[in-house]
Amino acid sequence: MKNSLRCLQLLGIALLPFAAHAANVDVDIKLADANYLEISFALPEHCTALAFLKDGRGGQEIRAAWQKQNDCATAEGDLLKSAGACTARFRVPATMQKISGYPGSFPAPGGMYVHSSNYALADSCGPVRYRFQAADIVMNGQRYHDTATPPAATGGDTSAMLMLTPQNSATLDYFDPRLSAATVARVNEVADGTIALLSKQLPLAVFTRPAIAAIGASEPGGPNVGGDASNILRLTFFNWPQTMGPGEQELLTTFVSHEFSHRFQLRDAVDVYPDSRLINEGGAEFLRWLTSIQKGWLSRQRAAAQLDKALAECTLYTEGKSWRALTPREIGGQRLEYLCGLPTYVYSLAARQGRGTAMGRFDRFYHQLRQGQVPDFAQALECGDTKACTPQVLPALLSSGPTMEQQWNEVLRKTGLATLRPPSQSLRDRMVLRAVVKLMVDDCAGRSGTTETPEGIILDGMKVCKSIHKDSYATSIEGHPVFGDAATGAAMKAACLARHEVTLGLKDGGKLVMPCQEPYAMREAFYSVDIEKTLALLLREQGTQ
Ligand SMILES: [Zn+2]
Repeated sequence: MKNSLRCLQLLGIALLPFAAHAANVDVDIKLADANYLEISFALPEHCTALAFLKDGRGGQEIRAAWQKQNDCATAEGDLLKSAGACTARFRVPATMQKISGYPGSFPAPGGMYVHSSNYALADSCGPVRYRFQAADIVMNGQRYHDTATPPAATGGDTSAMLMLTPQNSATLDYFDPRLSAATVARVNEVADGTIALLSKQLPLAVFTRPAIAAIGASEPGGPNVGGDASNILRLTFFNWPQTMGPGEQELLTTFVSHEFSHRFQLRDAVDVYPDSRLINEGGAEFLRWLTSIQKGWLSRQRAAAQLDKALAECTLYTEGKSWRALTPREIGGQRLEYLCGLPTYVYSLAARQGRGTAMGRFDRFYHQLRQGQVPDFAQALECGDTKACTPQVLPALLSSGPTMEQQWNEVLRKTGLATLRPPSQSLRDRMVLRAVVKLMVDDCAGRSGTTETPEGIILDGMKVCKSIHKDSYATSIEGHPVFGDAATGAAMKAACLARHEVTLGLKDGGKLVMPCQEPYAMREAFYSVDIEKTLALLLREQGTQ
C-alpha cells in the first residue's frame, strides 16, 4: 500500500511538468548586451490577449520603446496581442528615463538593474513564470549564474542586478567603478548605521538586508540622486563629483538613509489608506531624519533647517487647499508626500500622548499592519495604547476642512513647537518663482512651463499663452535680479497693484510685459522649529543610544 502510493506520487510528479507546460506563460528577461535586454513571452495555444500589469499611460510609454523581433505578438495599449502558441521576442533598450514605478532596464557599467514588474502579465492564460538570464545575477539575497528563477508568487515583482560577466565580489553589492572610494565608503557607513539603529529602535520590524546597486550617471543639471528600495536597493548618483562638498555629503546621507528606512516599512500594506503616499514617504523621511540626528550625521541646526524648509515648501505648494482637496497629481508633482510628510510625522509624534517612545509608536503601527490589521494611522501614532486618548494633530492636518496652512497655524500655535520668523532669501526666491508661475498660469490658460537657473527663469513659449509667444529667459523683474534680492517679490506685487502688469527683463536684452490681475500672496513669515524642545519630546523615554 505504502509502496504503490509512492509510485503514484512519483508518477504524478513526473507528469506534472508536461501537463502544466501547455497552460503556462513563460517570461524570460535576458541581458543580451550592455545596451539592451531581450524579453521573450512564450504563449500557449489560444492565448490571444494578455494584460500587462503595468498599465495606463506610464506602462504604454515604457513599452513604446520596445523593439519587436518577430511576428508572434504586438504590445498594443495595455495588451500583448498574439495568435497564440508562439514565443514573442522584444528588444528593450537600456534607459535611465523614469516613467512609472521601478525602472525596467537601468544601465550600469557591465550590466543592468532590472525589475520584472515592467514585463509582468496577468495570469488569464495560466500561471506566469519569470526567469532572469545573465552570466551573473543577484536576486533576492543570492548570487546566481546564467539563470535565476524567482518564487512563483512574487516573480512579477522582483528586482535583479544582471551582469555580463561573472563577478567575484565578496558581497552582493554593486558599486559603479565611476563612483569615488569616498562615496562608496560613505554609502556603506550610512547604510550600516541606519540598519543598526533602526533594528534596535524598531524591534518588531522584519528586516532583510537588500543588495545595494550604487550607480553613477549623468543628466542635465547639478549633482542629484534617485533610487528605490526593493530587494535590490538602487541608488543612482547623477553628476556626482569625485570629491564631495558638504552639500553632497548631506544629500548622500539623506538619500541612502531614506532608502534603507523604507526597508523597515511595508509598501503594499499601506495602500488601503487614503494617505498611503504620505505615510510611506513621510515615514521614510522621518526615520532617516531622526536616525541622522542620533548618529550625529546631521547637526541639530541642519536638522532644524531641513524640517523648516520642508514645512515652508509644504505650505507654499499646498496653496489655499486642504490636504484632502489636493489631487494625487498635485501631491506627486511637488513631492508633497515628502515635504508635508516629514513635518507631519515630526510634529504629530512630538505631540503624542501617553507613555512610549516615538519610534515605538511607528514600530507598533507597522507590526499591526503586518498582522493583517488596519489600525487608524492618527490613533496609532498619537495615542498608541493610551486609554481615553483622542489624536489632536493628524486628524486636523490631513483633513478636508480649512487649508493646510491654516491647520499648521493652529497645530503649531497649540503645541508651541515652532514660531514664526521672516523668510530666508531662499524662501523669498521660491516665492518669486511661484509668483512667476502664477503670472504664466493666468496668461496661458492654466498651463505653465518654467526652468530655474542660477541667473533666472526660462519660461516656455506656448501657443495658448497671450503674452509668452516664444521661450523667454527672464533675468530681472521690475529692475531687480530674479533671485537673491530681498526686494524682488515686493516690487512684483507693487507693479501688479499699481499698473496691473509686471515687466520681466530678458537675457537677450528684450522685455516681456505680463498682465497681472491679482498679485501672488507673498508670505511674511514661516515656521522655525524649537529643535531642542521638539527633539526632547521625540526622544523622551528613548534612553541613550
Ligand atoms: Zn522614498
